[in-house]
Amino acid sequence: MKKLWLYAFFAAVFIGLGFPVTQASANTSFSDVGTTHRAQEEIYYLVEGGIANGISSTSFSPNQQVTRGQAAAMLGRALGLNGEKKTTSFSDVSSNYFASGYIQQMVNKGIISGYPNGQFQPNKTLTRGEMALLISRSFGYGANSVSIASSRLMEKGIAQGYADGSFGASETIIRADFSVFLARGIHSQFRTSDEQTFNRPMYVNVDSLNVRTGPNTQYPSLVKVNKGQVVEYGYTIGDWSFIRVNGKEGFVHSSYIQIDVPDPNNPKPPVVTPPPTTVPSDLVVIIDPGHGAHDPGAQGFGYKEKDVVLSISKSIKTYFDKTPIQAKLTRSTDVFLELGARTKFASQNNGDIFISMHANALNGSANGTETYYYRTAATNPYVNDSKALATYIQNRMLEAWDLADRGARPGNYYVLRENTMPAALAEIGFIDNKTDNAYIASTTRRDQMAKAIFMATLDYFYHYEGRKDVLPLYNTVNGKPSPKLH
Ligand SMILES: [Zn+2]
Repeated sequence: MKKLWLYAFFAAVFIGLGFPVTQASANTSFSDVGTTHRAQEEIYYLVEGGIANGISSTSFSPNQQVTRGQAAAMLGRALGLNGEKKTTSFSDVSSNYFASGYIQQMVNKGIISGYPNGQFQPNKTLTRGEMALLISRSFGYGANSVSIASSRLMEKGIAQGYADGSFGASETIIRADFSVFLARGIHSQFRTSDEQTFNRPMYVNVDSLNVRTGPNTQYPSLVKVNKGQVVEYGYTIGDWSFIRVNGKEGFVHSSYIQIDVPDPNNPKPPVVTPPPTTVPSDLVVIIDPGHGAHDPGAQGFGYKEKDVVLSISKSIKTYFDKTPIQAKLTRSTDVFLELGARTKFASQNNGDIFISMHANALNGSANGTETYYYRTAATNPYVNDSKALATYIQNRMLEAWDLADRGARPGNYYVLRENTMPAALAEIGFIDNKTDNAYIASTTRRDQMAKAIFMATLDYFYHYEGRKDVLPLYNTVNGKPSPKLH
């Protein structure tokens, strides 16, 4: 069932009917792939969009092993990166190398890191483990190790393990197999599992938008959709979103769909946001567990604030570690840090935002969750940003723990005031209040809180900073953006 339309599609290509395919792709036929090779659908799909090329006009060499350089070029094209040759950061990839542009852009996006000796070894044969990491990083599956990346690929039906249960991470790959993995990564209808792909309604914001069979304009249009129409969003490939509409699945440029209903009273064309980068590896989130060592912070029922907020902060980091966003903790052990050391750490680590984690106490007489921001621009200029950040944090904390809502409110705290970035201070609850303490004491509840802070951060980047590229990261927790709140 799954591949039905593709069979129909390729039949149409070869007969030369039905789809407005480009001249080049319609004429593409490799003598060593033919029409019966087991990977012919996937190979022709990639060639159609200019993602893979033959080694000549008549030959694809499906059994030749894939080099690291070739793999980078194919993934770079799939992501729609600019392939113009350029100087790279690797000693063994010259600016004349055919994939130098793709390689360097993928370095910039955190997809490629190369070897510790400063080499990339572009002519070395790619292994299955490297393939899993490359595909995982390119398409935002949030895996930082070969073992996690290979599990993700197997879960998604992109790659299969061997009969003995292993993934064969050190085995090499031939071009036919790499084409199969890549095509499956791009288009879910090539995959071997029926994992739920579409999980979020979004709105089209232009008329006559082409839904294409692949993530670039070389792919033919399947159907057109119009402004205000609802599509189901699945995932992102480069600047394109894989969507389903009226039973058809295909790609639209991500600028033309949005979470919010487009304003029907606004006759002006929508503002098209700049195309997002592939993965937000440039973002750094500073997490600041309050107190430490001889300063226990608030205490109640045998619990100390310094320990609770450290454990939650470490969990927050594990959520970010599944994404390209870097989370950095001001302290990860029970040590004492002056307040000035915390803000200094944040600026030295080029933080984009700062979140300080705390718990309250008031002789057991108060309860609830609150988030602070600093509202006088004299010291920290990021007033509106900080307020928005605090608002998104407060929203997610209430969603996670449903304690009393004490609001997102202004507060004159050193780590907010003397900071150089949007900053918020979360008070998760009152440690000396019986109701709140039951949440604070529970490891399950702490993990919910960590996830809430993670999602609040994505909400802030997505809604306030307009970072559409964080959208796929919600998938790491099966979540979706909050409503726009600022
Ligand atoms: Zn505190």
